[in-house]
Amino acid sequence: MAVIGWIGLGNMGGPMTANLVKAGHRIQGFDLSQHALDAAQANGVTIVGSPAEVVSGADVVFTMLPKGDHVRSVYLGDGGLLALADTKTLLVDSSTIDIESARAVHEAAAAGGFRFVDAPVSGGMSGAEAGTLTFMIGGDDAYVAEASEYIKPMSRNIIPTGGPTTGQAAKICNNLMLFINLASTAEGAVLADRLGLDKKVFWDIASVSSGDSWALRTWYPLPGVVDTAASNHDFAPTFTAELAAKDVGLAIAAAQATDTPLVMGERVAKMFAALIEAGEGGKDCSKIVQLVDGTLANSSSGNANAEGTSHDAN
Ligand code: NAD
Repeated sequence: MAVIGWIGLGNMGGPMTANLVKAGHRIQGFDLSQHALDAAQANGVTIVGSPAEVVSGADVVFTMLPKGDHVRSVYLGDGGLLALADTKTLLVDSSTIDIESARAVHEAAAAGGFRFVDAPVSGGMSGAEAGTLTFMIGGDDAYVAEASEYIKPMSRNIIPTGGPTTGQAAKICNNLMLFINLASTAEGAVLADRLGLDKKVFWDIASVSSGDSWALRTWYPLPGVVDTAASNHDFAPTFTAELAAKDVGLAIAAAQATDTPLVMGERVAKMFAALIEAGEGGKDCSKIVQLVDGTLANSSSGNANAEGTSHDAN
């Protein structure tokens, strides 16, 4: 049994810690949300009252926080993990964050004599619950190997990505492709429908043809085709438009830093911004289909060209 500290018990951190409890570990969990704490406690997490108690006696501490700003504030500064923890404790950040914040924490951790890896995940809430997440881990080889042992109960795939920040780089690029695929699926789906194709017949073709993608198979944005897709449930979120906008924003920030043109990424960012501006940021990201078919409330003829993107580069 290991003693595992955990900060961030939300949609992902909640079910991830539940799997670590099932694997026999003691989890010392902390969150700012009482709702998150109550749910984690019901899953067997030992709730503690501060980051200082999270790190106390911990073999490893994980963080699973929304954005780079949260990660910086939890690790850095006087009350941060690097000031509180013993250098014997391994530190793992599994949040999806910007490269610059990941680099800042790597550098501060190394300067303080800590072992730290960036280890973002793919697989969503369902993968977190099933313990089938893909972890992409950046950092020193020895630290990555050490972190992998603790990660096993939460994962199906553990992939070392190289040096510091490469886990975040992999995650950012993967999600850029995911959301471009989602937008292309929305356009193909609506056009096929308007050309008189049966929705299921078209899906049956595309899913075994060159139009196939994970987004098509899992998030098909027209109802009545993929049972579990949010389009069948009034776009109740499996992955919010706000989170999608954040992730595409991370790719755009990384592209600007590397002088990489992202024509498709910029366009998809505008689609999510239009959803958010219409007050739908908390709905599922596949709702961008309504920018294609023109049914989005407050949108004039599917205004996918809305300017003034609100994506956050964190
Ligand atoms: P979430 O908002 O549900 O959970 C984040 C939790 O962090 C919240 O409970 C919040 O109260 C807590 N928190 C914020 N600041 C804190 C602080 N200073 N101290 C303690 N707790 C604090 O988000 P989530 O869906 O669990 O996502 C977490 C990360 O995982 C994000 O970076 C997200 O992009 C990434 N991710 C999410 C999914 C998904 O499907 N939801 C999939 C893959 C990756």
